[in-house]
Amino acid sequence: MRIILLGPPGAGKGTQAARLVTRHGIPQLSTGDMLRSAVAAGTPVGRKAKAIMESGGLVSDDIVIGIVAERIVRPDARKGFILDGFPRTVAQAEALDAMLGEKGLKLDAVLEFKVDQGALIKRIEGRAAETSARGEPVRKDDDPEVFKTRLAAYNRDTAVVAPYYKARGQLVEIDGMRPIEEVAEAVRRALAPAGRVDAATARH
Ligand code: AMP
Repeated sequence: MRIILLGPPGAGKGTQAARLVTRHGIPQLSTGDMLRSAVAAGTPVGRKAKAIMESGGLVSDDIVIGIVAERIVRPDARKGFILDGFPRTVAQAEALDAMLGEKGLKLDAVLEFKVDQGALIKRIEGRAAETSARGEPVRKDDDPEVFKTRLAAYNRDTAVVAPYYKARGQLVEIDGMRPIEEVAEAVRRALAPAGRVDAATARH
């Protein structure tokens, strides 16, 4: 099963990805995690990506497409994968289509987690205020200003990717504001047709 998860920060992609990893036995491939490892290891890719990542910009398509191309051919991704944080641009989406097409593979689903961004900001601000009121430090990920910057970057750069898949009839929109269990159920329903195809293929 080959799945792409789209949606802004705070939309619950990580939570649902973790469940899909367990349920389908396929790896979650996060380009953010891969790039952070490359930075930590000081590889040539990491050295190029470091400053861009720190500035909140996008690492170049060539670099990111290269690391994904190399990652999806590893044995653990043979049965499929969940892409998280990729594609972030139309050029990346086109490159992924080309990579899969060359191998005769296709995407099973592109799930977009839709959220009310204003409500998410209020939720984060509320939580940060409670944390501060307890005298505890607010983690960087939970800082409302950092969150707003990441949201703005998503709206600026990545909001173009969902329309790309929508135009191809591949996009399934999921209401990410629902409770976690309900979102998980919506994800299961969205993937059910792909699951049946996989099962049918496996029998032959
Ligand atoms: P993330 O953890 O997905 O928010 O990614 C952290 C940072 O890595 C982003 O702010 C970008 O600088 C970089 N990055 C991750 N994925 C991509 C991608 N697909 N294209 C370009 N840059 C990326």
